[in-house]
Amino acid sequence: IQWEKQVRDSAQIRRPNGMSILVTGAAGFVGSHVSLALKKRGDGVVGLDNFNNYYDPSLKKDRKALVNSRNIFIVEGDVNDMKLLTKLFDVVAFTHVMHLAAQAGVRYAMENPQSYIHSNIAGLVTLLEVCKNANPQPRIVWASSSSVYGLNEKVPFSESDRTDQPASLYAATKKAGEEITHSYNHIYGLSITGLRFFTVYGPWGRPDMAYFSFTRNILQGKPITVYRGKNRVDLARDFTYIDDIVKGCMGSLDTAGKSTGSGGKKKGPAPYRIFNLGNTSPVTVPTLVNILERHLKIKAKKNVIDMPGNGDVPFTHANISSARSEFGYKPTTDLQTGLRKFVRWYLSYYGYNHGKLVD
Ligand code: NAD
Repeated sequence: IQWEKQVRDSAQIRRPNGMSILVTGAAGFVGSHVSLALKKRGDGVVGLDNFNNYYDPSLKKDRKALVNSRNIFIVEGDVNDMKLLTKLFDVVAFTHVMHLAAQAGVRYAMENPQSYIHSNIAGLVTLLEVCKNANPQPRIVWASSSSVYGLNEKVPFSESDRTDQPASLYAATKKAGEEITHSYNHIYGLSITGLRFFTVYGPWGRPDMAYFSFTRNILQGKPITVYRGKNRVDLARDFTYIDDIVKGCMGSLDTAGKSTGSGGKKKGPAPYRIFNLGNTSPVTVPTLVNILERHLKIKAKKNVIDMPGNGDVPFTHANISSARSEFGYKPTTDLQTGLRKFVRWYLSYYGYNHGKLVD
């Protein structure tokens, strides 16, 4: 009963024509930022997260505390728990679901393939089953990934480009997610928007990602491993700052179910849409390291090796014209500025002072 009251309070809408949104993965990097932004503008937000230990769970607990402090309740549970999800929809008639819970990371799949199937495929289907039975049916926006472009060599990547060469199991589960959501759209008329995020970075980020682990190692005086692609070509990523991604998520929630525009493919009675959310200006990994060195005022000890073929792709580069024309998506933070904000957050969160750890 206590739990139900907290969920109801958290779902309260405080603006005209506001939405009530279930955010899965709300203790995660993107989920915590999106939850805070939606709540701030007056939408009702309820979180769901299983607080798994893929990376430092204390970081997730701290994000949870931050989110809780803004009156957002996060239910601790798994997206595979159909009973729990059904109960949540009994308590709140969610208008939207922002589905961000997933097993992320490409390399972890080598040792833990099943966790990708559990969260990214079985969990997605469980959620869709509950949404399809809910009355009213919520509009669903979920995180796919730029990794679906795999070894595609035509840049920039457009939504209609080929996605039949996944380089990792992670990419394969995201691609499968696109097919699965498309079938639910087609059969049950669920309104679905898939967002292909391109390497998201920023404060409260994920410790398994290169910019984060590089920062940690550089500060601790440890070497960093920089991968180099075929023919000694540097790897490059279309790094996208978290605030830009949050704006893209909100824009797609606001237009979910409305029109199909140029980025969407109309199938069945409700729209099925896919959008790239990137930055359109790829930066090489050595340049990323240079920027971090400048911000940290420490030289990195670099260990440059050939890419070991563990799921990484050589480069990513988003064409964002669909998201721009559909909901005005326009990233505004360059890597230099975004990393400055990340480094500032990192130093204060981990209690560094002039390169020394103060506990
Ligand atoms: P994250 O790991 O920080 O967040 C995911 C959250 O989901 C975590 O808090 C985790 O505990 C939770 N979770 C995982 N499996 C769950 C399950 N079965 N049930 C309930 N909760 C579960 O990752 P993120 O970087 O915030 O990514 C958010 C989404 O965006 C993911 O779907 C990810 O695949 C996608 N994505 C992220 C990036 C990026 O660069 N960060 C790029 C492309 C796509």
